[in-house]
Amino acid sequence: MQKTIRNRAFPVLALAGLVATTALTGCAKTEKYDVVVVGGGAAGLSAAIEAADAGAKVALLEKMPMVGGSTVLSGGIVYSTGSSILKGAGIDDSVDALVAYWSGRAEGAADEAKLRFVAERSGANVDWLVGLGVKFGLPFPTGTSPVPRAVSTSDGGVGIIRPLKAAAEAKGVAFFLETPVTSLVSKKGAVTGVKAKNRDGKTVTFASKAVILATGGFDRNKALMDKYAGTQVADITFVGSGNTGDAITMTEALGAQVVGSGGVIGLRAVPGEPTFETPVCMLIWYPNLYVNREGKRFVNEGSDYPIFHAALNEQTDKASFQIWDQATFNENLGKAVEKGQAFKADSLEELAAAAGIDADAFVATVASYNAAIASGTDAEFGKNLAGQLPVAAAPFYALKVNAATIGTMVGLKTDLSCRVLRAGDEPIPGLYAAGEVANGDFFKTEYPASGTSIQMSVTFGRAAGAAAAAAALAGK
Ligand SMILES: Cc1cc2nc3c(=O)[nH]c(=O)nc-3n(C[C@H](O)[C@H](O)[C@H](O)COP(=O)(O)OP(=O)(O)OC[C@H]3O[C@@H](n4cnc5c(N)ncnc54)[C@H](O)[C@@H]3O)c2cc1C
Repeated sequence: MQKTIRNRAFPVLALAGLVATTALTGCAKTEKYDVVVVGGGAAGLSAAIEAADAGAKVALLEKMPMVGGSTVLSGGIVYSTGSSILKGAGIDDSVDALVAYWSGRAEGAADEAKLRFVAERSGANVDWLVGLGVKFGLPFPTGTSPVPRAVSTSDGGVGIIRPLKAAAEAKGVAFFLETPVTSLVSKKGAVTGVKAKNRDGKTVTFASKAVILATGGFDRNKALMDKYAGTQVADITFVGSGNTGDAITMTEALGAQVVGSGGVIGLRAVPGEPTFETPVCMLIWYPNLYVNREGKRFVNEGSDYPIFHAALNEQTDKASFQIWDQATFNENLGKAVEKGQAFKADSLEELAAAAGIDADAFVATVASYNAAIASGTDAEFGKNLAGQLPVAAAPFYALKVNAATIGTMVGLKTDLSCRVLRAGDEPIPGLYAAGEVANGDFFKTEYPASGTSIQMSVTFGRAAGAAAAAAALAGK
């Protein structure tokens, strides 16, 4: 993520275009469609496009006033193997290598068939996005693999959502914004549509042959977070405002299985910052010395961000402090001091007292960190110390950095046709799910590489759209 988000202003203005759409207001009491898609992120839009391409009459229902979900707020990074961009750059890679990488990062706990399903389609999906108008830059590595499998847009998730939405509109998908789906309609255990609230607050039934749930994660639902991601709950999240896990709640009565190891897509952030891309929040990427409240280091500060998050998540209050001095000071740190997000003091002891850090341990940690820089070797955590300066020039600074989430990794159990499974792995007729809402068996607890989630969402979104349309049209 780091590579893409640098030097890019948060694209608030660009989001405006995602509000204007073909949305209908004051719709009739019952609408009839072949396929209803719930949620307008990467998965939902991809599903809607595929279903419309197959000839289905498609409605996309989105609870927020604009489509995009977490996807539009994302770094716009997509991970793959074998895309035209990667081939053009001469990257030596294979589906097997990608599956092995993802599987290794999940410590073997992921469903290998799903990893392979996505890896096999990943390059073609990037080409598909490019064909729809997404503009990606040159490949670069993310995660812990040196293989440059990631590409990103220059304007983050907006650069993905805008072309997807335009394609769906061009194919005749009917958009209903500010239309939260509140429940599923079912007959003898088979899903036959959804109930939603329209813009006027009235309940509308959408009857359909197939429903695709693409509602994203549940970071903004405290009860679901406590239940499924207990140890990973953080005070800060940057996910879409609509990501409250509605699909998990709505499918309970139908007996849908929920799977996963309790993971989140974990990041870290400066408390009080509205997005992960503000200049103050971007300070987190500097691999300076970090200490916990006990004044001790707890991680190789140069680690990939989910690895850093996993270590930070174990610290008191999930809190840490990034340490600066006058030699490393920059103006954004100055802004953080003004806003009360960073402490400033003339001595290490005073800094520790101001920030609430154990002073004796902190002074000892700084001494041993400076000695490591002098020797060129970090015996404690193995950080690459090249370019690191000792913490030596007063005044000193401690920036607050706490654990944050940008997604969840627990979701509805689905098969490779994206059918939602109840006990005994029996498909619930008429019900499909794709994207973050159904990612529980794709990961363990550590997110493997930036770009994986959007790739997984596009792959299963497309597969769900095709499968749902085929089933719906076959029944006509
Ligand atoms: C700040 C940030 C940066 C990220 N960066 C990257 C990145 O660069 N690359 C990457 O691969 N991943 C990234 N991720 C993760 C990734 O963006 C998401 O996991 C992925 O985009 C999820 O796509 P989705 O379509 O499943 O869900 P979303 O994009 O979240 O879409 C779900 C949609 O469903 C809607 N919805 C929910 N409930 C209802 C309901 N009841 N009725 C109607 N609509 C409903 C929501 O409002 C939302 O619009 C990032 C996430 C965040 C938050």
